[in-house]
Amino acid sequence: MTEPIGLPDAPPLGESALPAGTFDGMCVLVTGGGTGLGKAIALEFARLGADLVIASRKEEHVEAGRAAIAELGRRALAVTCDIRQPDDVAAAFDAAEAALGLPGVLVNNAAANFPVPAEDMSPNAWRTVVDITLNGTFFCAREFGRRHLAARTPGSIVNVGASYAWTGGPGFAHSAAAKAGVKNLVETLAVEWGPYGIQVNGLVPGLFPHEDMTTDIQGALGTRSEKDSLQPAMRAGRPRELGWAATFLASPYARFISGHTLVVDGANWQRRTLTMASVVTVRRQMGKGPFDPDERR
Ligand code: NAP
Repeated sequence: MTEPIGLPDAPPLGESALPAGTFDGMCVLVTGGGTGLGKAIALEFARLGADLVIASRKEEHVEAGRAAIAELGRRALAVTCDIRQPDDVAAAFDAAEAALGLPGVLVNNAAANFPVPAEDMSPNAWRTVVDITLNGTFFCAREFGRRHLAARTPGSIVNVGASYAWTGGPGFAHSAAAKAGVKNLVETLAVEWGPYGIQVNGLVPGLFPHEDMTTDIQGALGTRSEKDSLQPAMRAGRPRELGWAATFLASPYARFISGHTLVVDGANWQRRTLTMASVVTVRRQMGKGPFDPDERR
């Protein structure tokens, strides 16, 4: 029998590998926790007893995250915050401490991304994505680290990354470079802050479609057919699977895991083909015409 069957599907939503109450009484701050994968991660922490702080720029996003957590019967605080602004980040931590206590876990999930050939990328697009994804992640980690060092308390950081941190990301030069920085930061901070009780890990999602994906990204995915068969797993990831990985990394059962980046993608990033596929330019993959130097500066 050689027909592919793919990796088995995940257990149903609501199940967990960790004991109930693993995060009872702990405050967890998730940036970008009101949408997509950040929300899925926040909900898994809530299912295990955590109180949540949902931080991002848009009121409607943080409110959606807060409402979803409240539905699970946990306390939740919605804070509007632009992670590019260190003062905003400090204010979000102040609000978190006042309402729910110093977060014991920080999930650096917020990021920005859209596909664009490198030759068409404006300096503003480059700066914006790097500023949110790399600088924002550092500002949040820095705030978390400083507060725990001052309080002499342990903590755990999970930085959400992407596998093109290792491979490069054609069509995503800004995001791939920023995520490479985020992965590197995991390794540096884990060593710097291990002595102070702070564990730092990375978590890399593979293909995890969700309803909040930007139309740009949905469009890029939509140009392919039968997405599942393009993955070695023969299926996409379920957002809860990412939540289970994040809660494990931040749990007492992973205390000796630090400086590690865990890839949850059904081995897609390691895929190589036996025969070489033809090279198709990013422009062509995106259905763009020839490069026009006068079109964008
Ligand atoms: P998403 O739905 O686009 O969420 C991005 C989140 O970041 C939003 O909640 C957004 O909220 C927040 N955000 C953006 N800029 C911000 C800023 N300046 N300050 C504060 N918050 C900001 O993305 P996603 O697909 O769930 O992805 C989540 C993470 O997984 C990202 O780190 C992404 O790179 C990574 N990832 C995802 C996939 C996938 O298949 N989906 C694959 C690989 C990696 P506001 O708009 O309210 O600010």
